[in-house]
Amino acid sequence: MNAITADAAAASPDRLRITEVFLSLQGESRSIGWPTVFVRLTGCPLRCQYCDTAYAFHGGEWWTIDAILAEVARHGARHVCVTGGEPLAQKRCIGLLERLCDAGYEVSLETSGAIDIGAVDARVSRVLDIKTPGSAESHRNLWSNLPLLTAHDQVKFVICSREDYEWAKGVVAEHRLADTCDVLFSPSFTEVAPSALADWIVADRLPVRFQLQLHKILWNDEPGR
Ligand code: SF4
Repeated sequence: MNAITADAAAASPDRLRITEVFLSLQGESRSIGWPTVFVRLTGCPLRCQYCDTAYAFHGGEWWTIDAILAEVARHGARHVCVTGGEPLAQKRCIGLLERLCDAGYEVSLETSGAIDIGAVDARVSRVLDIKTPGSAESHRNLWSNLPLLTAHDQVKFVICSREDYEWAKGVVAEHRLADTCDVLFSPSFTEVAPSALADWIVADRLPVRFQLQLHKILWNDEPGR
């Protein structure tokens, strides 16, 4: 944004702090592989030990919702993913999601699971993390979010160890998550061999989807890809 636009955004009541808006392939979740515009909001109240987007904790620029919509449209993709950081840490994210849905996009939201998802537009597919003990942030899980999930949503566990796997398996069973929505298990990239997690899931016939993060395989997690 130029300085005039940035000043206008800073003064606007519908502004959001944005780290980046970029076009890539969706690297995970049910929409994996689709060309997708990512809107990465700045800031996160969590500090997961494996976080790969710490560059979004601070900084960013103020954008109006109109400016975000215009930038998303410029990229010309059908799928839009609002991510972070923790996007819901900015209250105006709710309005951004609604505007993106109104504009006809297939919208997903990646959220840490630590903030109430109740006000999110029902047209949005919410991809809700459940933080395992290995993340060092499992005490932040907002369990009251789970009854709000629908078949349109997804739940994601990043597995850091065999202990995490057993814990996640227990949570899936206790909350009958597989009966509600897609449940995704991914290995923490440097902590669990993908083949080990795949073997555990198959051996247990667990009703979850194994996932590798495509963007890490393709681009080694370069920001903006
Ligand atoms: S919730 Fe996401 S952005 Fe925040 S620290 Fe954890 S992995 Fe990083």
